[in-house]
Amino acid sequence: MEDKVKIDPDLCTGCGICVAMCPKQILDIDPKSGLCKVTDQDKCDLLGGCEYQCPTGAITINPS
Ligand code: SF4
Ligand code: SF4
Repeated sequence: MEDKVKIDPDLCTGCGICVAMCPKQILDIDPKSGLCKVTDQDKCDLLGGCEYQCPTGAITINPS
């Protein structure tokens, strides 16, 4: 099954905006890479708030 939330590491700057706004708290900044990672794909609400808020367009939400 395809991931619900995809983060493009080439676009993510690690700004943390999505981490702060995700209502399900499933986004985090990986201390090693300094980039956003998804901690629990299954809990995503698929509403795409993070996709809309990310300043670099690094997040893609897959409803299917
Ligand atoms: S808002 Fe976008 S650029 Fe910022 S940490 Fe999240 S995915 Fe990365
Ligand atoms: S779509 Fe909503 S629940 Fe899913 S990662 Fe983005 S902000 Fe969090």
